[in-house]
Amino acid sequence: MTIELAPYAVQMSASRGRQFAEPAAQNRSEFGRDRDRIIHSSAFRRLEYKTQVFVNHEGDLFRTRLTHSLEVAQIARSIARNLNLNEDLVEAIALAHDLGHTPFGHAGQDALNLCMQSYGGFEHNLQSLRVVDVLEERYGNFDGLNLTFETREGILKHCSLKNARQLGAIGTRFIQKKQPGLEAQLANLADEIAYNNHDVDDGLRSGLLQEAQLMQVPLFARNRQLVELAFPGLSGRRAISETVRRMINELITDLIATSEQRLLAQQALSVDAVRDAPPLIAFSNEMQADALLLKQFLHDNLYRHYLVQRMTSKAKRCVTDLFVIFMQEPELLPPGYRERDSEARQARKVADYIAGMTDRYAMREHRRLFIVDEI
Ligand code: MG
Repeated sequence: MTIELAPYAVQMSASRGRQFAEPAAQNRSEFGRDRDRIIHSSAFRRLEYKTQVFVNHEGDLFRTRLTHSLEVAQIARSIARNLNLNEDLVEAIALAHDLGHTPFGHAGQDALNLCMQSYGGFEHNLQSLRVVDVLEERYGNFDGLNLTFETREGILKHCSLKNARQLGAIGTRFIQKKQPGLEAQLANLADEIAYNNHDVDDGLRSGLLQEAQLMQVPLFARNRQLVELAFPGLSGRRAISETVRRMINELITDLIATSEQRLLAQQALSVDAVRDAPPLIAFSNEMQADALLLKQFLHDNLYRHYLVQRMTSKAKRCVTDLFVIFMQEPELLPPGYRERDSEARQARKVADYIAGMTDRYAMREHRRLFIVDEI
C-alpha cells in the first residue's frame, strides 16, 4: 500500500542517506529499516531496566524508558498519520530518542554531566546519537547502526553550539538556527505528551500524587469532570484511566489542528521551507499554557517529592562513586574500556560504560565495587 505523503513530509526519495553506502532496503522503507535496526539494538533492550521516574524495582506497573518510548512512538505515529507525515521516520526517531539515557533517569544524567565537566560534559541527547553512530556493535563493516541522516537529526533534539560545531552536517541546523523536519518536531512533542500523562498516571498509582491535588491543574480537572459526567460516581483506577486518555486525546487533537493551521498559513510546501520556518508542529497558545501548568505541577509535586528525592540522591551518589573509582583505578574496568593515551578519552569511555548500564546493573556494580563481601 502506498500512502501519499504531504509535500512537507520527509520523502524517502529525498533522504540524505547513510554515512556508509548500503544496498537499498528490500520490502521496507529506509526509515522502516532504521526503526528495525533500533528495535534490534542492545541499547533498546536495556531501556526495559532504565528509570523513567520510578526506579525499575519500585513496581512492575510503572513506566520504564522502554514503555515510555513505545508510548511516544504510538502518539507520534497517530499524529503523523493525521498530518500525512512519514510514519516510519517518526517511529524510528521516537523509539531511539532515549537510547542514550543513563541509569536512574535525570538524576543519573545530572551526576554524570557533573563528573564529565572537565571532559566535555555529558548530555543524553548527544549520547543517544553516539549510541546509534558509534557504540552499537552489530555490523561487520561499520560501528553503530548506520542510520539515515533524518533519523539521526531527529534523535539530536538539542545541542550546544560548541558540540554542534564538532558534529558536522548533523550539527549545522543548530548553528544556522533552523528547524529540523516535521517528523523530528513531532517526535519531540509526542515525548512531552507521553511523559506528562503517564507521570500523572504513575504518580497517582504510586500514591505520591492525590487526585484532589491534581484538580488544581486545569487540563486534568476539566477532563476529570467530563469523566464524572459520562460515568457519575466512577472512581479509582478506571476514573484515572478515563481521565488520562481524555487528556492525551485533547492534547493530540489540539496539536493536529494547530499544526494544520500553521502549515497552511506558512505555505511550507517542502522540507526546506519547513527548515526555514518557525516550528510548525505546535500546540495552540492556550494548550501550551495548560501543558506548562501540568508540567510545573509534576515538577513541584512528583519529581520533587521527598520519596523521589531520596532515590535521586542515592542514584547520584551511585553514578558519581562509579565514575570516580573507574577514573582512579581504570584496572577495575572490563577489557575494552581502558584508554592509556588520554585522560579525556578515558573519561569518555567511563561515561559510555556507566551510561549504558541499566538501573539494576549500576546498583550491582556499585555493590561489587564498594561492599567487601560482595562478588
Ligand atoms: Mg523521552
